[in-house]
Amino acid sequence: MYTKFQSFLKEELSQIKEAGLFKNERIITSPQGAEISVSTGQEVLNFCANNYLGLSNNPILVQAAKDALDERGYGMSSVRFICGTQDIHKELEQKIAEFFGTEDTILYAAAFDANGGVFEPLLTDEDAIISDSLNHASIIDGVRLCKAARYRFENANMEDLEAQLKVAQKHRFRLVVTDGVFSMDGNVAPMDKIVELANKYDAMVMIDECHSAGVVGETGRGVTELFDIRGQVEIITGTLGKAFGGAVGGFTTGKKEIIDMLRQRSRPYLFSNSLPPMVVSTGIKMFDMMNETNELQDKLHSNTDYFLGKMLAAGFDIKPTKSAIVAVMLYDAKLSQDFAAKLLEEGVYVIGFYFPVVAKGQARIRVQLSAAHEVEHLDKAVEAFVKVGKELKVI
Ligand SMILES: *Cc1c(COP(=O)(O)O)cnc(C)c1O
Repeated sequence: MYTKFQSFLKEELSQIKEAGLFKNERIITSPQGAEISVSTGQEVLNFCANNYLGLSNNPILVQAAKDALDERGYGMSSVRFICGTQDIHKELEQKIAEFFGTEDTILYAAAFDANGGVFEPLLTDEDAIISDSLNHASIIDGVRLCKAARYRFENANMEDLEAQLKVAQKHRFRLVVTDGVFSMDGNVAPMDKIVELANKYDAMVMIDECHSAGVVGETGRGVTELFDIRGQVEIITGTLGKAFGGAVGGFTTGKKEIIDMLRQRSRPYLFSNSLPPMVVSTGIKMFDMMNETNELQDKLHSNTDYFLGKMLAAGFDIKPTKSAIVAVMLYDAKLSQDFAAKLLEEGVYVIGFYFPVVAKGQARIRVQLSAAHEVEHLDKAVEAFVKVGKELKVI
C-alpha cells in the first residue's frame, strides 16, 4: 500500500518545491536571542523571533525553571482533571487573570489548543461566530469544530463587521472574534470600535492576544490596555510561547462561567497532558517580573520607534504599526526573497513573506523587534537594509 501513497506524496512535495513554497528550516545552534549562531557557522542578528521581551534566554527565568525541576519534578503524566493539577497551575491561572483584569483562566498546552477548544463547548448551531478574515489558523480550525453559523468580516473593517452583525441578529448568541495584533502587517484590531459595535448589536467579544500580550499598551497588558477596555471583553486567548518567555503553553482567560464551562467541556483541556511544572513555575516568575517593572516594555517600545524612524527616514515603505512587527513592503515575491537572502549575507536574519501567506502583490519583509536588541543591533540592521535597498533599487 505504501508504495502508491509514497509516490503520491513525492509528487505533491515536488510540486510544493516547484511552486517555490517549500519551507526549509534554518537550524540554530545557540539559545534564542538577539544574536544567534546558525548551523552554517554564521553568527547573525535575529529579527524574526517572537521573543518580544527578550525573555527566551533570560537568566532569572532559566534559574526559576531549574529550581522548579528540583522542587516539582519533570512532568505531570496526567490531564488536569485526573491528577495533573499542582497548586502552581492554579496560581499561574490567577496571575494571568490579574494581568489581564479578567475573572479566571484555564491553561492549555498551546494557544493553538486554547483556540481549538474554545468555540465548540460554548456555542451551538443556534449561535453565530463573526470572525476577522485575517484571524490566526488556530481560530479558523476552532471555528470549524463548532456548529455555530460562520460570518467573516474584512480585516479590521468596521463597516463590514456592522453589516455581518446585522445579518447575524437572527441567532441566539453572537461572538465576534479577532486577533489583537495581526502578525503580517503588525496592525492592531480597532478594539474600541469592535466593543462599541458588539454592545450595539448584542454580541460577545473574543480577542487572541498572542502577538499583543506583553507587547502592546503602555505596560504590555495588550490591546485591552491600549484601548482602555480592560474587563470589557468576554474571552481572551494567549500564549506563553511568544513575549512571555517563549517556552510553550497557552491560555484562555475571561468571564468566570465561561472558564468554568471550558474546564468541563473543552476537549484539548480534558484529553491532553498538563503543562510541566517547570513551565508553570517559570510562568509565575515571569508574571511577577511583569508586575515589578515596565523596563522591558519601555525598551521594546523605544527600540520599535527607533527602528521605524530610521527606516522611514531611509525611504522604506512601511505598513502603519502599533506593535513590535514592522512590515517592510516590497510588493514583489522574488524581490522579497532576494532581499532577505542578501540581508542574511550581511548578518541580519529576517523572513520575506509572499503569496499565499500574504495577499498577491503584497510581498514584504517582516521585522520583529525585541527588548533583547541593543541600539547597535538596530543600527546594524538599518545599515544592512539601506545597503541592500540601494543595491536592489528599492530606495
Ligand atoms: C502564535 C499564535 C498562536 C499559537 O500559539 P501557540 O501557543 O504557539 O500554539 C495562536 N494565535 C495567534 C494569533 C498566534 O500568533
